[in-house]
Amino acid sequence: MNMKSKSITIVGGGLAGLTAAIHLRKFGFLVIVIEKNNYPSHKVCGEYISNEVIPYLQYLGLNLNELNPQNISKLDFSTPKGTSIKITLPLGGFGISRFTLDEFLYKKAIENGCQFIHQKVEEIAFENEIFTITTAENLIIKTELLIGAFGKRSNVDHRLNRNFILKPSPWLAVKAHYIGNFPNDLVGLHNFKGGYCGVSKVEGNKINICYLADYATFKPYKNIDDYQKAILFQNPKLKEIFQNSTLHFNKPLTISQISFDKKNTVENHILMIGDTAGLIHPLCGNGMAMAIHSAKIVAELIRKFYNNEIKTREELEHIYDRQWKVNFQKRFTTGRILSKLLQKPKISEILMRLLVIFPSLLRMIIKKTHGKPIVI
Ligand SMILES: Cc1cc2nc3c(=O)[nH]c(=O)nc-3n(C[C@H](O)[C@H](O)[C@H](O)COP(=O)(O)OP(=O)(O)OC[C@H]3O[C@@H](n4cnc5c(N)ncnc54)[C@H](O)[C@@H]3O)c2cc1C
Repeated sequence: MNMKSKSITIVGGGLAGLTAAIHLRKFGFLVIVIEKNNYPSHKVCGEYISNEVIPYLQYLGLNLNELNPQNISKLDFSTPKGTSIKITLPLGGFGISRFTLDEFLYKKAIENGCQFIHQKVEEIAFENEIFTITTAENLIIKTELLIGAFGKRSNVDHRLNRNFILKPSPWLAVKAHYIGNFPNDLVGLHNFKGGYCGVSKVEGNKINICYLADYATFKPYKNIDDYQKAILFQNPKLKEIFQNSTLHFNKPLTISQISFDKKNTVENHILMIGDTAGLIHPLCGNGMAMAIHSAKIVAELIRKFYNNEIKTREELEHIYDRQWKVNFQKRFTTGRILSKLLQKPKISEILMRLLVIFPSLLRMIIKKTHGKPIVI
């Protein structure tokens, strides 16, 4: 089969969508990415990426060293009261802003010949083996295979009536870049009542501070500054970090209704990748690596489908679902248990203390929520 005659459409050009686009293009497919936003733009994210993605990105011809990321090899983990332990990370990672990373991948995708449509997708219908995608500007695109890479929460989820979107979620997140003193090789995971905060450096010596907070704890304050002072500052580690840093954004970015509920990897025949297939608790620091890895899985299976090694759409969907579960299910389960425990203050406190007393337990959790270097 000549891949050059086959066109694949991807809805969403974040990490997962852009990586899948580059990979499918490498195989020779025509690739269309529909992305509602322009590049570059900031995203709410901890911006720490596990080193497991490096071999795969190299295979795709993506050298992130060009972006001067910060190499991160140590973790500083603290309880809400500030008791902390430092450990060396089993695999380590690097810090790069989404502002820089997503734009880099976008430019590489363009260089490699992917086509971009900067519009918002409103409707996706599937009939007679063909998807019809309608954008807000009434552009209609028809495609045989469709990849859903529209992130953790999108209007498309509402259109598809996906289960998780109907339930309210108690989590919100805040992120900004700061200038100040913070070690280059360290990622801080500092817990506070109702949430946790990730701190690490990205390119250009900026400090990224990103936290996930329980809406119930946040609600009485309404104002981010007051909330941080009243709640986050109870952890002396966080108080020190904030007091010694200057905000580099006009104001922090916020998102709400973050759901860690189960999602289907295939819905309405759309092959979902990245957060669209499932969002792991950010405390695990592995969502980006999983988004990138899921792009690899889907791209390879699509090639097999058009090579006739996978005979039917049903078989393609079944194998994708199975491979996704084999690769990510255990990490999700650990992440979900962690997030449930952290919502219960008493259990969470005991767990935190245990982690500080037994660092090997923390190392084990990190291993369970991370993958091994992605094999090509
Ligand atoms: C608070 C927080 C901290 C995190 N910290 C980390 C961390 O430190 N390390 C880590 O590895 N992971 C972290 N994550 C997870 C990580 O951010 C995600 O897993 C990753 O961004 C997933 O990439 P994606 O491509 O699936 O989604 P996204 O990057 O969100 O991309 C989705 C894209 O789809 C587009 N889109 C949506 N709807 C439409 C539409 N209708 N039409 C067209 N385009 C559309 C959006 O504009 C967006 O560009 C964190 C997550 C949160 C919430």
